[in-house]
Amino acid sequence: MIKKIEHIGIAVKDITRSNELFTKLFGKDYYKVEAVESEGVNTSFFMLGETKIELLQATNENSAIAKFIEKRGEGIHHIAYDVENIEEEMSRLKNEGFEFINPQPKDGADNKRICFLHPKSTNGVLVELCEEKR
Ligand code: ZN
Repeated sequence: MIKKIEHIGIAVKDITRSNELFTKLFGKDYYKVEAVESEGVNTSFFMLGETKIELLQATNENSAIAKFIEKRGEGIHHIAYDVENIEEEMSRLKNEGFEFINPQPKDGADNKRICFLHPKSTNGVLVELCEEKR
């Protein structure tokens, strides 16, 4: 079951400058920064009520974020939905015909297990499922 929008991911070129920009925009500080080496990204998180904003900066040119910015520039990169049980949700969506970028859940930032659906099966929107690690 999809419970809520957990966060919205925004691709940025310079996370230090963007942290300042979004701190001004929201009138509050980010609550964590975290490098996810396997994804080649630095991330930072702002809490807005029940939802978060995740900023993502590439740490190498092979990172998906580097390729995204090269093609489309900075901007909204993905929408992440909070799920109760990621395996269950993945198998439900596979049965519904959705395609996945990664066939198995993997570790993501902010204490989550995550997976991405392929945007070609979701009207061009990159969808992330995430389950809080227990
Ligand atoms: Zn995310």
